[in-house]
Amino acid sequence: MLKIEHLGIAVKDLQKSIPLFEQLLNTPCYKTETVTSEAVNTAFFQTGDSKIELLEASKAESPIGKFVDKKGEGIHHIAFEVENIEAEMKRLAALGFELLNESPKKGADNKLVCFLHPKTTNGVLIELCQEIR
Ligand code: ZN
Repeated sequence: MLKIEHLGIAVKDLQKSIPLFEQLLNTPCYKTETVTSEAVNTAFFQTGDSKIELLEASKAESPIGKFVDKKGEGIHHIAFEVENIEAEMKRLAALGFELLNESPKKGADNKLVCFLHPKTTNGVLIELCQEIR
């Protein structure tokens, strides 16, 4: 894995959290994007070589909505950038890690993504991501 590409943080209200993180990080939100397939609204901030991704449920049955209901706002996932997502998925599946999607899917911020089930990663939801070139 190349680096921590971003940290995903679940929030209740993006319109409140965007200015808060702009103040905290002292950098403007450079992109907002809705990922319809995941029922999530996202906002991105660049922090050096990594990013912060804020995630807000775009409807009630959203996985992010369920997460916030259960655990409250907070760190939701860690995303690692990989060179070749399909090779990395094969490598991890062979080691017994449970992949949440069988083939890479289109995520926010021009990425192919795959998530690993937290039950095989010490409770941490892991995202693999590869830039779509
Ligand atoms: Zn992410």
